[in-house]
Amino acid sequence: MDKKLRIETRCVQGGYTPGNGEPRQIPIIQSTTFKYSTSEDMGKLFDLEASGYFYSRLQNPTCDTVAARICALEGGSAAMLTSSGQAANFFAVFNIASNGDHVVASSAIYGGTYNLFAVTMKRMGVDFTFVAPNCTEDELRAAIRPNTKAVFGETIANPALAVLDIELYARVAHENGLPLIIDNTFATPVNCRPFEWGADIVTHSTTKYMDGHGSAVGGCIVDAGKFDWAASGKFDCLCTPDESYHGVNYYERFGKEGAFITKATAQLMRDFGCTQSPQSAFLLGLGLESLHVRMQRHCENAMAVAKFLKSHKNVTWVRYPDLEGDEYYELAKKYLPNGSCGVVSFGVKGGRAAAEKFMKNMKLGAIETHVADARTCCLHPASATHRQMNDDELRAAGVSPDLIRYSCGIESAEDLIEDLAEALASID
Ligand SMILES: *Cc1c(COP(=O)(O)O)cnc(C)c1O
Repeated sequence: MDKKLRIETRCVQGGYTPGNGEPRQIPIIQSTTFKYSTSEDMGKLFDLEASGYFYSRLQNPTCDTVAARICALEGGSAAMLTSSGQAANFFAVFNIASNGDHVVASSAIYGGTYNLFAVTMKRMGVDFTFVAPNCTEDELRAAIRPNTKAVFGETIANPALAVLDIELYARVAHENGLPLIIDNTFATPVNCRPFEWGADIVTHSTTKYMDGHGSAVGGCIVDAGKFDWAASGKFDCLCTPDESYHGVNYYERFGKEGAFITKATAQLMRDFGCTQSPQSAFLLGLGLESLHVRMQRHCENAMAVAKFLKSHKNVTWVRYPDLEGDEYYELAKKYLPNGSCGVVSFGVKGGRAAAEKFMKNMKLGAIETHVADARTCCLHPASATHRQMNDDELRAAGVSPDLIRYSCGIESAEDLIEDLAEALASID
């Protein structure tokens, strides 16, 4: 599809252009396997000499079509779906960093990603240095080591709502011959396209706004197709023969545009099997069709809620990047001119006990670990998603013990505000 089409059109029609008499909606190819007439035909697929499907653990047409839509939204060259956002971030990093390597990551990232990096991948021999999301260029530079393989951050951090200075991160990464990986889950490509600011790889938890209806867990990785994997001599994994895959040299064979995703599919998906089901991909595709409409409403509601909270006597602080005076307001204006996301965080007077009472007294805002959904939901991270962190780690991740994450759905803002007002009155 023509990349010049506007983002709204790409949401609705990107990645799938049916031919004469073909289904208007993306077909669900609910098949684990695909039939061939000769062993030679199939052999060509295994040697990556022909493209085609053979087993849905590696690739499935429904998943690829939906991945192509997300690829079009981000303006990338290649994309793949994964079983979850966790799998997407794991694959994006592990595709280029393994035992003995090092990665620099912003400390303001999703709790699950922090655990994946700081605990599980560390056990696999990948070392991480965490830097403040708003660190200076010199601080970021100082964190890079000779064995560093990537720099990682979130466009808008979940739940800290720190907006990353993507251009600064990209500049320092590129100076050192490294790719910048950006988790763009909260902004979505409707509100920010990190490739336009220099990012090389984008990941998503499609479970959030992209699906948007709380119906299917999923993830996605998109490659901008611009990073030169051969230039620095640091990425043998992409530029020397893969003996586990018939000696293919991904960079030579698939170039800048295809090497990263082909390797992640042929090697990591083959071995780890974190595949998305065609049913889930179909639901994701449906969600994408209204992403641009929903994001606008999420942002309008969040702005109204943030303004209300800011003026309430039982609220001690409010964080929403689009709110004038917010620490990240200037960065939000630059990177997210049409709005950031639907998530607002705040603290209530009276600390932890008051926060719990407040949560109990909300009727529309449901207590869920979920976020970025059509229905309003909220969470107290210190007692839920981030409970494995000590107070210092919490602070480094930008999460205070009294933080409430309030994810505005697409209901009426007036109803949400009335619900919040009643719950806040209960802690008087
Ligand atoms: C939820 C989330 C993830 C993890 O995604 P799952 O689909 O839950 O595995 C990763 N990054 C961010 C920013 C998230 O919000």
